Amino acid sequence: MPKIHNFSAGPSILPRQAMEAGSRACLDFNGTGLSLLEMSHRGKEFIGVMDQAISLVKELLGVPSGYSVVFVGGGASLQFAMVPYNLLDEGETAAYLDTGTWANKAIKEANLFGNVKVVASSKDANYNFIPKGYAIPADAKYFHCTSNNTIFGTQMQHFPESPVPVVCDMSSDIFSRPVDVSKFGLIYAGAQKNMGIAGCTMAIIKNDLLGKVKRKIPSMLDYKIHIEGESMYNTPPVFPVYLAMETLKWVKQLGGVNAMQKRNEEKAQRLYTEIDANPLFKGTCAKEDRSRMNVCFVMEKPELEDAFNKAAEAANLSGLKGHRSVGGFRASIYNALELESIDALVAVMRDFARKHG
Ligand SMILES: *Cc1c(COP(=O)(O)O)cnc(C)c1O
Repeated sequence: MPKIHNFSAGPSILPRQAMEAGSRACLDFNGTGLSLLEMSHRGKEFIGVMDQAISLVKELLGVPSGYSVVFVGGGASLQFAMVPYNLLDEGETAAYLDTGTWANKAIKEANLFGNVKVVASSKDANYNFIPKGYAIPADAKYFHCTSNNTIFGTQMQHFPESPVPVVCDMSSDIFSRPVDVSKFGLIYAGAQKNMGIAGCTMAIIKNDLLGKVKRKIPSMLDYKIHIEGESMYNTPPVFPVYLAMETLKWVKQLGGVNAMQKRNEEKAQRLYTEIDANPLFKGTCAKEDRSRMNVCFVMEKPELEDAFNKAAEAANLSGLKGHRSVGGFRASIYNALELESIDALVAVMRDFARKHG
């Protein structure tokens, strides 16, 4: 098999060593003679996995005391509802920043529980920039934002000063750079972009935000229940949590989130430099808001798209098709993608420009 360069937006590329560990664990977990998939989640083996996954999250992101880390099911999309369910009472207002498809879905869910004030939106520009200079109302229960807009290829390079707790969907850039957790009330991320496989979602919650809404919360939607149950209130998604643990071990081995940031900056810079220099391509987003995770670009002559797709396929570049709401191309260059894959893409772009420029 030739090497495939995997630019898929999600589920997406994972460290090879995490997948190898996962395949071994399916057949024989740590020499127990049992598969990880057929042992009790209450046994010491799996409890060890969960403990290590949670402590790696805390260590890698420097989670301060007063915060809890949980793994739950349901994807980031369930967090769109769980956040307002736990933090926003009827009649109260939450502030939301509208930066794209995922932000919109979060807003839609919050509207089921209370009032939503959209503080700013880049919708009129097809979300090609991150709004700035907006005011966050001091009487809002929280301010919600999306750190990286997976579909539109923008990323918040700064977070605003907020008079109220900041809740952030970091699904597509968690562990790609350092974050100051103490500046956030709640962070959540689905695993399948930068942390593992589909099936589990990680949340970091400031404990003192909980227990304040008047409504009754079903157990499975209650952060407190998951915290008290140490992410084992019910049967957790054992294999996704294991893959997250192995992926985070890899992040740590490579030097943690600072090393990831350096690696990701270099990859992004190499690719954006080519997009800006190559006469056939152009980026779709405001330069200062460009994502280091999802690089969106289109062709100056859209009629060449099919031919470029074929050239990319022939060079074993996979997953480059842009989301239908932007068109063109999207190279997702998450933590696990190697620099050599960027170089392979850049080489195809240059070669294509020589032939068609
Ligand atoms: C992929 C993604 C989601 C949705 O995640 P699911 O696990 O499919 O629910 C939400 N937010 C962002 C930023 C994403 O990239």
